[in-house]
Amino acid sequence: MNISNRIVVTPLGAGQDVGRSCILITIGNRNIMLDCGMHMGYQDERKFPDFSYITSDGNITDIIDCVIISHFHLDHCGALSYLTEHLGYHGPIYMTHPTKAIAPILLEDMRKHLVEYEEEAKYFTSSAIRDCMKKVTAVNLHEVVTVKDDIELKAYYAGHVLGAAMFYIKVGNDSVVYTGDFSMTPDRHLGAAWIDKCRPTLLITESTYATTIRDSKGCRERDFLKNVHECIDRGGKVLIPIFALGRAQELCILIDTYWDRMGLKVPVYFAAGLTEKANSYYKMFITWTNQKVRQTFVQQNMFDFKHIKPFDKTYMHNPGPMVVFATPGMLHAGLSLNIFKKWAPDEKNMLIVPGYCVSGTVGNKVLSGSKKIEAEPNKFIDVKMSVEYLSFSAHADGKGIIQLIKNCEPQNVLLVHGEEEKMKFLRAKIMQEFNINCYMPANGETVEIETANKHQTHPH
Ligand code: ZN
Ligand code: ZN
Repeated sequence: MNISNRIVVTPLGAGQDVGRSCILITIGNRNIMLDCGMHMGYQDERKFPDFSYITSDGNITDIIDCVIISHFHLDHCGALSYLTEHLGYHGPIYMTHPTKAIAPILLEDMRKHLVEYEEEAKYFTSSAIRDCMKKVTAVNLHEVVTVKDDIELKAYYAGHVLGAAMFYIKVGNDSVVYTGDFSMTPDRHLGAAWIDKCRPTLLITESTYATTIRDSKGCRERDFLKNVHECIDRGGKVLIPIFALGRAQELCILIDTYWDRMGLKVPVYFAAGLTEKANSYYKMFITWTNQKVRQTFVQQNMFDFKHIKPFDKTYMHNPGPMVVFATPGMLHAGLSLNIFKKWAPDEKNMLIVPGYCVSGTVGNKVLSGSKKIEAEPNKFIDVKMSVEYLSFSAHADGKGIIQLIKNCEPQNVLLVHGEEEKMKFLRAKIMQEFNINCYMPANGETVEIETANKHQTHPH
């Protein structure tokens, strides 16, 4: 008996791009959606994956067998309530327990921003988010979950942010590992991604930092502190746009210890209303953090800082040097953008961007060197402040992706969640080093992989 199998992959988002991750895969006769994110760089319909690809064929619940969400970042889950409450998908949805707890908070936060600016966002209500989350099944790490009798799922630790997971998906003889976003190096509060030698037919991996072999974290941390110190020494203000749950804690620990060591008196503020909640989630999901956090948590609240105080909007007009952490991380809306508008025209000031900014956001424009930013229609801002990009976001670099391939030994690799040029470079490297196929489809482009996993009648 020789049954030829195939795996079919179509990215509806995150194909040769970062943002609105949504990858459709077909294994055997099952259709699975990997992530359902939104693009923070767009305000129009491009902010969502192109669902017309599925909806034009009929009832979406009949077509999609299950949806898997890798982690709570909005570029991975931001379109989920649109999928369930607007497009009417009511099939199974899986994510880890921390993701299920934290995703609705970020969705609600985004909803508030959206309805402020967009008439059409009316459908996007708090109750839609709640109803959507009720349809979600939470899973544990390494727990084997069976869906509709023949789909097998298993979550692996991905590092990156609290609750992030890589998913192993098996139907029949074929299997796919989807990494979501992952990090191969531990940090101050999370561990490193881990997967066993599961030898999937296909590995779908993020490739945000595909071409970077990152210098040691110690170097980046010293650069960061040096920059901050120089700016406040010349009387400037430092703005650090961050995501509410993620690198913020890392950088706060860094600054707090430095202020202590150097005896600095310049005020440092943290302006994210989500800190309290973040705290309780780290406590609730303590087993998802790293050993060190687990050991010290008993004595000390990990977000209790000696030198970092809560920020009030009015402080941005205060004279003199200060350091402010504010959300969101890509300067696309909200408080960090407001502070940026106010501080950008003064060359004494400094912007330090510690994470990736997707194209279309103000953060991305500033990092690409724009000196005039249209932050509102016909309202331009002169960017005279100095701008530094020091990547602290927890994505695997080229070396980490190669390491993951070595660990799980896939038969094929497919790259998503990265830029085209960088993907090309990594693809060449993977094909050369492992002598396997590596694909990098654009959005809407379909890849068919004939698999070698035929039913064998003659053992050799
Ligand atoms: Zn992420
Ligand atoms: Zn992402």
